[in-house]
Parts: sequence; C-alpha cells; structure tokens
Amino acid sequence: MKKFTGRGVYGGIAIGRITVFRRQEIAVRRMHVEDTAQELERVENAKHRAFSQLQGIYEKALREVGEDNARIFEIHMMMLEDEDYNESIRSIIESQSVNAEYAVAATSDNFKEMFASMEDAYMQARAADVADISDRLLRNLRTVPDEQLQDQGKMIICADDLAPSETVLLDKSQVLAFVTAHGSSNSHTAILARNMNIPAIIGVGEEFLMEISDGDKAIVDGFTGELLVCPDEDTMQEMLKKQREDEEKKSLLQALRGKDNITLDGQRINIYANIGSTEQIGTVLLNDADGIGLFRSEFLYLESRDYPTEEQQFLVYKKVLESMAGKKVIIRTMDIGADKQADYFGLETEENPALGMRAVRICLTRPEVFRTQLRALYRASVYGNLGIMFPMITSTAELTQCLAHCEAVREELRQEGAEISQKVELGVMIETPAAALISDLLAPMVDFFSVGTNDLTQYTLACDRQNPALEPFCDPHHEAILRLIAMSAEHAHRHGAWIGICGELASDTALTEAFLRMGIDELSVSPPFVLKVREKVRGLDLSQ
Ligand code: PEP
Ligand code: MG
Repeated sequence: MKKFTGRGVYGGIAIGRITVFRRQEIAVRRMHVEDTAQELERVENAKHRAFSQLQGIYEKALREVGEDNARIFEIHMMMLEDEDYNESIRSIIESQSVNAEYAVAATSDNFKEMFASMEDAYMQARAADVADISDRLLRNLRTVPDEQLQDQGKMIICADDLAPSETVLLDKSQVLAFVTAHGSSNSHTAILARNMNIPAIIGVGEEFLMEISDGDKAIVDGFTGELLVCPDEDTMQEMLKKQREDEEKKSLLQALRGKDNITLDGQRINIYANIGSTEQIGTVLLNDADGIGLFRSEFLYLESRDYPTEEQQFLVYKKVLESMAGKKVIIRTMDIGADKQADYFGLETEENPALGMRAVRICLTRPEVFRTQLRALYRASVYGNLGIMFPMITSTAELTQCLAHCEAVREELRQEGAEISQKVELGVMIETPAAALISDLLAPMVDFFSVGTNDLTQYTLACDRQNPALEPFCDPHHEAILRLIAMSAEHAHRHGAWIGICGELASDTALTEAFLRMGIDELSVSPPFVLKVREKVRGLDLSQ
C-alpha cells in the first residue's frame, strides 16, 4: 500500500480506481508494436466509448440548449464514423506497425491540414472539429477500459492541478473524488468539489503522479487528506467502516429537511445554496436549501467554446428558476478572468490576473457581452424569483453603469413586447475592501449585498487565493474581514437592503453565531453544507 498526504478540502471517503488526468497537449509517443490487431481493437473500443459519450452530450445539449446548438455533436458523431478518417488510422497502424495513439494523432494532423488548406470557410472550420474528435479518441485510448472500472464504478481523478475550465468539462457523474499535486483550498476547483459533494485532496506534491497508474485501486480520505493506493485488506475494512459512519451522519442530517432555520431564541436566517451549473440543482433540492444564493454563471462560459448565445443562456436560467419553483435564485453576472479563463475572450496575459481584467471590468468594456447576458436573465425572470448581482464592484460609478445597462435592457425588451418580471432584485457583491468601505454609498442603490469572502479575504489580506504557500498567512477569521462584513451589514440595514454571505466562510460553523449577531440575513453555502449550517443555527441561543 502507498500513502500520500495532502490537504482535504472536502470531507468524505471515496473508494474506487484511479484515472490520471492528462492534458490534451501531452505529446503522443510513436511506439513500435508487434500486435497490430490489438491496436485496431483498442481504436474500435475507444471509438465506441467516444461515440456513446457524444451521444450523451448531444442529448443533453438538445434538452438544454436546443437543436441548433446541439447539432455540432451530431457532426462530431458523423466525423467519428467517417470512412476516410478511419481508413487512415487503420492503414497507419498496419503499414507502420505503430501504436493506436500515434495513428490517431497523425491522422488528426493530416486531416486538420487538409481542411485548413481549403478555400471554403465552412470547410476550414472543420479542422477544429477533427482536432476535437481526435482528442476525444486519444482520451479514450488513455482511459482505463470500462470493464476494469466496473467493480467500483466511478473514477478518482488524479492530476497535477485542475483549472476550473478543465473541471467543468469532466463528466461529473463519473467522478468519485479529486486528488491534485498542487492547488489551494480556496481555488475554484476546490469550491467545485464541495459544490459537487465529492471528497477532494489538494497539495499532495508532484511525486505522487509518478507512483500511481490508471486503474490502481485507491481510497481518498477527504477528512485526513490521505490518498491510499492499493490498500491492504485491513485498511480497506477500516475505511469502509469510516465511510459507513460518515454516510450515517449525513443521513441523520436529512431529518432536518423541512425544518426552519431558527435559533432557540427565535432569530431566523435564510440558508441558500451555491451552484455552478444546472446539474447541481438536484443536490440543492435534496438538501432543502431555501433558495440559490449564488449561481456562478461564468461556468456556462467556461463550458462553451464560444460566447454562449442569449438563447442558450435563457434556457439555462429558465431551467434553474423553474426548478426552484418560486424560491429565490440569485444569478451572478459572469465573473470571467483571474483563474477562470475562457480562450475565446482573448484576454491579454496579465502579470497579476487577480488584480486584472475580471468580472464587471470585462462586462463594462464589452457591453455587448454584458447586454446579451442581461437580456437572457430578464427574459428568464418571468419563470421564477430572480435576483441579479454584480461581482468585483469597487465604486459607485461601476455600479451606476451596471444598473444603467439593466435599465436599458429592460426598456429594450419592453419595446420588443417581451414579458419580464417587475420583481427582479438587484444586488452587489461585497468582495473588495473598497466595496465594504463604501457600502453606505452602495446600499441605497441596490436591494441586497452578498459578501464574497473568498475574494474579500484575498484582497484585504493581500494573499493570492491561488497560491498554496500563502495559506498560513490567509486567515479568513482575521478581525479585518469580520469588521468589513459587520460594517457592510450595518450599512445595508440602515438603507433598507438585506445582506447575505456567499463565500466559503458562510459554511464555517465556527462563525455562524457571529454572523447571526451581525444581523446577516442569509448564508449561501455549497449544497452539502445546508443542513449542517441549519443544525448549527437551531442549536444557538443568542439571548445569552
Ligand atoms: C467570493 O469571492 O467569495 C465568491 C463567492 O466568488 P468566487 O469564489 O467565485 O470568486
Ligand atoms: Mg469572488
């Protein structure tokens, strides 16, 4: 048995087999093989898997973003079956006695060149599709065969690090746990693991990747931060017991479903949930959240290969609103930038991306992108109880511009005869020290505040949240952070606005009492933490 230790960022025990996440740019090596028939069979199996994945993606896209947008995946399925493409792979393997990966990569290069050299712009664009299906084939060639995974089902993903844009593209239904060599507790990948309710360990150190292989049986202990590879029978039994106990504890919490979030002396608070995609609505409902306090809409942009259209966004927002059946849904306008990069935005490489072109700064400099999102949001507003909030605000001037865009979009939609809700609340995220310090000026302009403690901590304490070496210096309980939150709460209430917290600190039960005493009206947490925070609230007596 091998043991590796890092930092657990979400508790829970996962038992399964390892899949090492390899980036697409990893060079494919040309290897001589004796058994070409076996390579042909590997290609066939990989193709089979790729085809059914595409079919799944196509059906999901059809449901969520409509036929026109789903069509690309149908084209990919056709290309995967293309005779010339398959013949090329076959003949490279047989004529050169080489491995399947090399044959796929060489075929991909040849076809990409061929398409790129064509006159017709439509055909030129097919070069990217060939690259896409070939990458999918390569990934499937590298993945452990399904049969090997069958006894434990899903995979434990091991990687050097995972960018949010990579994490969102993983098939979540197949992921059992994450283990990464690097990463920090407040990175969006760690947050995603919490949102997705899966154990995760970060900062295990580079070497572990050399010592594990695809298909190794492993245990992830998200409580202790341990990864146990090829565990012995005693360890396995012990961990199965720990897993059962954890599950029992979680199911005991389910008894709190339907109960009020009320302290022993009668103070109430709303407990909402944070999500990054519609896939997480199921856990939100399961954990009985009172609403959605933060929908990180930028993940929609990260999942796309181009700007999501108004229609694509409308369908997603409508779905969230409808699923929450009249409960509050706060959608944050896109917070692209810093660690959440989408290539097609073409953002300049920056020396300090966390202090760079991010969130509303992009929206205000690219109003057409902002307006598309606002149009989709307002059109969807009639399907539920929508709130819209703006991230990374530092001044009243920025907020004034955001509000003016909202008014212009509402007017535009009215002129078009579109129906929009009159009750959409507008809010501002308090996630820069500047916003907290001018919260008395911002509060009269909006309906609510939502404190983003992840960024508020990073900017107040001058600690890059992506840098694990700074974690010892980055104390979110720091008096400066608590004072900024208390000050914002006081200003919000003085001006008739309500205030919530949607950063990770909202689920820190060591602070629940302090937040209630400050008068915080809402805590928005990863869905699996809703009932834990409810339990904490119900045990507090603030009259003491
Ligand atoms: C925050 O900064 O606390 C927040 C909720 O936003 P994000 O983590 O997505 O930056
Ligand atoms: Mg933030």
